[in-house]
Amino acid sequence: MILIFCAPSGSGKSTMVKHLLSRFPGQFALSVSCTTRAPRGQEQDGREYYFVSREAFEQHIANGDFIEYEQVYEGLYYGTLRSEIERIQSAGMTAVFDIDVKGGLNLKRIFGDEAAAVFIAPPSVEELSRRLHGRGDTSEEMIQKRLAKATIELADAPKFDYIITNDDLQKAQHTLEELVKNLGMVR
Ligand code: ADP
Ligand code: 5GP
Repeated sequence: MILIFCAPSGSGKSTMVKHLLSRFPGQFALSVSCTTRAPRGQEQDGREYYFVSREAFEQHIANGDFIEYEQVYEGLYYGTLRSEIERIQSAGMTAVFDIDVKGGLNLKRIFGDEAAAVFIAPPSVEELSRRLHGRGDTSEEMIQKRLAKATIELADAPKFDYIITNDDLQKAQHTLEELVKNLGMVR
């Protein structure tokens, strides 16, 4: 099975996914997406993303290397490489996807019962704004774009198999641990 996580940017998805990976070492691996956006903060090529030029991204599209890709924000591409799924599954691990809502629902459509799609919801759009400002690594313009997109994405939450509200982080992490246990994803 694969595990798909979607959430409006700033909901705490990365924080929760990182927790899952460290809580169950060797059992889950994050699919590293390709993007044309620039690295933020401490991000490293090949770890958070494969950071590529627009030309290189378009070459991957032409080669059919992506299982899905989107222009998530105006002018910025993000895509999931088929080779990531093969890399992770051949290592005997469960592939975890941290992608936008549209991409997540596309993957769910492709994988069907072989996928669990989880929506991480923020307690409110106001709290989302606080978290994005608090993270301090995104311009005001990008924050406003993300907040506008969040309102649209929240409407799609009911299409997911599971919704976890990330209000109290520890509680949300516990709910996630119980979910993967109940799905039989951990040894
Ligand atoms: P995402 O991956 O969804 O964009 P992050 O995991 O980067 O979000 O979280 C956004 C910010 O909110 C980070 O600064 C993170 O430390 C903080 N954060 C995450 N979960 C919570 C929570 N439950 N309560 C308060 N702050 C949180
Ligand atoms: P960020 O720039 O904050 O890292 O990510 C912006 C958005 O792009 C997030 O919602 C993230 O989940 C999404 N994203 C990251 N990788 C992919 C991908 O491969 N495909 C799609 N469709 N969205 C992605």
